[in-house]
Amino acid sequence: MKCLWCQNQVTRNLLMQEILFPWLITESLCSTCRNLFEKTPADVCPHCCKVGQATICEECLVWQEKYPDLTINHHSFFLYNEAFSQWIYQYKFLGDYRLRQTFRLELKKYFKHKPDVIICPIPLSVERYAERGFNQTQAMLEAANITYTSLLKKKSDTLPQAQKNRQQRLSTTQPFEATQACLEIKAKKIILFDDVYTTGRTLLHAMDVLNAYHPSQISTVSLAR
Ligand SMILES: [Zn+2]
Ligand SMILES: [Zn+2]
Repeated sequence: MKCLWCQNQVTRNLLMQEILFPWLITESLCSTCRNLFEKTPADVCPHCCKVGQATICEECLVWQEKYPDLTINHHSFFLYNEAFSQWIYQYKFLGDYRLRQTFRLELKKYFKHKPDVIICPIPLSVERYAERGFNQTQAMLEAANITYTSLLKKKSDTLPQAQKNRQQRLSTTQPFEATQACLEIKAKKIILFDDVYTTGRTLLHAMDVLNAYHPSQISTVSLAR
């Protein structure tokens, strides 16, 4: 196979199951590229995965005060390092749709043992969708064969998150509204999936909308933090 990121031909011994069932091959990167993406270390904030924290971080304390009814329970696969920043630039901003496959192995493993959970990708506004041609979070779940439910709709949007400074990001008004599917989430567990956790603003807005429908638990997952 060819590595999805560096395009080099990968020579590795195939596993027996990959020879018998070639369609099951899920690794899309060579080992060199795989190692460029650093896994989230152990010393992170137990709520939001911010690095270098043994206990709850300052940012989470601010959110706790603002949203006493919500608890951040976040899982992030990778650190937002140089490699990740290049990857997200190519995938999201240059619109390289092939890259939706990059982390399907991680996603598949993580969501495999959560059959009773409703997984919801963070939606894009109509404007961003028209610009990019795909929803990057939804496309990754599809590539990993993960069933999801669209519980949220994004209202129109003038400036993409990435073009906002930290202050603008933190002060945005509620960008989401509930879809009809929210009528079915009472007492159910929800996982919200986004590509990156930056300030937590987007996910907190999303949690706030869903919380009004009384799910039993809302946790969040991002590729990187
Ligand atoms: Zn590679
Ligand atoms: Zn935190």
